[in-house]
Amino acid sequence: LPAMTDVDGLIARRKATMGSKLYVFYDPPLHMVKGDGVWLTDASGRRFLDCYNNVPHVGHCHPHVVDALTRQIRTLNTNTRYLGEQVLEYSERLGATLPGKLKVCAFVNSGSEANDIAWRMAKTYTGNNGGITMDFAYHGITDAVDAFSPSGNHRNSLPPHMRALTPPDGYRGEYRYGTPDWGRKYAADADRAIASLADAGMKPAAFMIDSALMTNGVLEPQPGYVAEVFRKIRAAGGLCIGDEVQSGFGRMGTHMWGHTHHDVVPDIVTIGKPAGNGHPLGVVITTPEIMEALLKEYAFFSTFGGNNVSCAAGLAVLDVIEREGLVESARVVGDYFKAGIKGLMSKHALIGDVRGTGLALGVELVTNRQTLAPAATETKRIVNSMRDEGVLIGSEGILGNILKIRPPIVFKKEHADIAVAALDRALARL
Ligand code: PMP
Repeated sequence: LPAMTDVDGLIARRKATMGSKLYVFYDPPLHMVKGDGVWLTDASGRRFLDCYNNVPHVGHCHPHVVDALTRQIRTLNTNTRYLGEQVLEYSERLGATLPGKLKVCAFVNSGSEANDIAWRMAKTYTGNNGGITMDFAYHGITDAVDAFSPSGNHRNSLPPHMRALTPPDGYRGEYRYGTPDWGRKYAADADRAIASLADAGMKPAAFMIDSALMTNGVLEPQPGYVAEVFRKIRAAGGLCIGDEVQSGFGRMGTHMWGHTHHDVVPDIVTIGKPAGNGHPLGVVITTPEIMEALLKEYAFFSTFGGNNVSCAAGLAVLDVIEREGLVESARVVGDYFKAGIKGLMSKHALIGDVRGTGLALGVELVTNRQTLAPAATETKRIVNSMRDEGVLIGSEGILGNILKIRPPIVFKKEHADIAVAALDRALARL
């Protein structure tokens, strides 16, 4: 391993070569040099338990994925202008995990591109041009999907064709856990959004939702909420896009796809991040009718999308998920992890709410459980303090007071024990 990092030197070089805004985790930031399963090693040789990275889904440098990638890159890496087996096998295997007519794939290289193409499909298929998203959602960086991402640049300045829904936050929102029919009450906001588009002479082409509601702080809406919103969007002529970039591939346990937890079937599903376990790979999966509507109007080809190597990575990830039983494991370990964190609530008044499904967990911190005053400063301190303990987590939410826990799904109970003990100590140290 290289010697101790010159952090200041790397930061200076980074500013000179990549722009002044750093967007790094932690202060001071970490310099990672090696990954293995749920562990990361920094330049000083220190190991960290990774409770944050959702991209190395089946574990950092999983040998089966590395083997598949290296075998394929030694043999051939070209594009979909040629016929090839890998892209077909990958499409068929993805299609087999999804219900109904969700079988046709468009291959791209990132979650942003997948959502961008999904949005274009929705506009083309419906003939409408309004978009509906969740307030404080994140769906990517292209101009089109930046408009769907109020957590990025449009907090209070959505583009004219966009409307944002009030997040179904049962902990501190307008309707809280225990309020009768609170899901339906939040879903009624879709009526307002649709009416507001109509006032401006528009109809919705699409509603896009991250099934894990991750940027909103890993919300757990009342069952039926998402289905109710989908019904309203469809009744107004729009399509529903399930963004599975965060919630997909068994992250939420029990089911392969996050939307199944909400008892809905989207018209278009988008995947990214975990699909290639770190190799860039994004896919839009939809019905033949929606795909044909796009292809009638537009040429579609992505140079890297669907290349042999990316598809080999994608296939290997599916293999590992199946062989190692990771969807079920995410449920079992996720439940155990969540119970462990909940167990800290009696000791630490700062923990206001523990929520999430499978290995997508959020821990909302408050300085007062009655007023729900957000503990944003404490959240930052906990994240850094856990890093000092060798456990990597993140923070999330519009108020910056939610711990985000989202490890590779090969995470085991023994790892949850390490993380819960570190959180306990970090809270005690505050
Ligand atoms: N959708 C969601 C829900 C995401 O979390 C992200 C990335 N954080 C994206 C889309 C964009 O993916 P990418 O960064 O690969 O473009």
